[in-house]
Amino acid sequence: MSDIRRRDFIAGAASLAAAAAVTLGSPREVGAGDASFMNNVPDPILSGDDLPTFKFALEKSEGRVSGLSFAKEATVRQLPISKGIAGVAMGLAPGVMRELHWHATAAEWAFVQDGRVRTTVTGPGGYEETNDFEPGDVWYFPRGHAHVLECLGDQPCHFILMFDNGYFSEFGTFSITDWIGHVPKPLLAKNFGLPESTFDGFPKKEVYFAKGALPPAKPATPGQGWKLPPLTHKYRLLANPPRVNNKGGRLWLVDSTLFPISTTFTGAVLELDRGAMRELHWHPTADEWQYVLQGQASVTLFGSGGRYRAEKLEQGDVGYIPQGYGHSIENVGSGTCRVLIGFNSGIYEEIDLSEWIASNPPDVLATNFGQPAAVFEKFPRKDVFIAPNDGPSK
Ligand code: MN
Ligand code: MN
Repeated sequence: MSDIRRRDFIAGAASLAAAAAVTLGSPREVGAGDASFMNNVPDPILSGDDLPTFKFALEKSEGRVSGLSFAKEATVRQLPISKGIAGVAMGLAPGVMRELHWHATAAEWAFVQDGRVRTTVTGPGGYEETNDFEPGDVWYFPRGHAHVLECLGDQPCHFILMFDNGYFSEFGTFSITDWIGHVPKPLLAKNFGLPESTFDGFPKKEVYFAKGALPPAKPATPGQGWKLPPLTHKYRLLANPPRVNNKGGRLWLVDSTLFPISTTFTGAVLELDRGAMRELHWHPTADEWQYVLQGQASVTLFGSGGRYRAEKLEQGDVGYIPQGYGHSIENVGSGTCRVLIGFNSGIYEEIDLSEWIASNPPDVLATNFGQPAAVFEKFPRKDVFIAPNDGPSK
């Protein structure tokens, strides 16, 4: 290629990149067909000289409110970096349900923070499961499976939903009232073999939050009778022992090896004592979505090319780490910090910096860093994972 042609080529590529940046600058323009969602295609959001923000104040956002019930979401609109995972904070008042619906383009993973929730999910084959959830429990609904969420008892409930698609909006679900409200009555009458008048009083548009009597203590039998699915949708995350219990913190984690239906998602609760830190690490196969349940965290992000960014997350804030990017989570508050973490992979994988260093010969490290090999004799010989306030014991 001649110099002139090369210059033209570079100028052309630059203007294409600029056009892409302009398109992506407005979150409304980001569509699900964006090829950058594919991991091997350079992502314009992650291609700049600086890393973009990876924080969003979810609980402080407006969302959709109906009385004491609410839904606040973090999608690529609110947090453009979060292409792999979207999340929702939802609260339901007593007697309120999030109506029957499904998601065409995302599976749903959830963690109950406060109160009690009852779910009924319907899968292909007419399999149906009703479960009651308490704080610390999680559910997983495969993409496209229908479900309903009810607040149980006379206290409000609060839970965090995650979706394995950052473009998924909780306000674009396929709701039963929206559908039935838009189908002509003769067609409905034929479908169910009922008089058209049956549907006279049905809602004409999406109900979303449906309010009624408190649900019965024990769920009533479905119209078809019980037809349980082969795999359960419920896992008691915090009722099980933590996967990691270190000086400085604990990690409860559930992936598909423990919760087989959760083929596209892994969820975790990370608890850090005062001053402790989840060490520098990365995940080879998943993006990471964070929600601060309690306390304050400083999250760092390393994005190659000298790019490094730190954000301070308060309770109710969301953080996002792209697949393969280096990061750490440090408790910078005055008490315990708890972070809910989701990964868009059914198998959990990580590589920790301390383990990476410990797995290499000292002479390699000496040459790499231009330091005497003896320096690396002092480093930890195994994975630190969580570093307590006073540093790990060697
Ligand atoms: Mn849902
Ligand atoms: Mn991580």
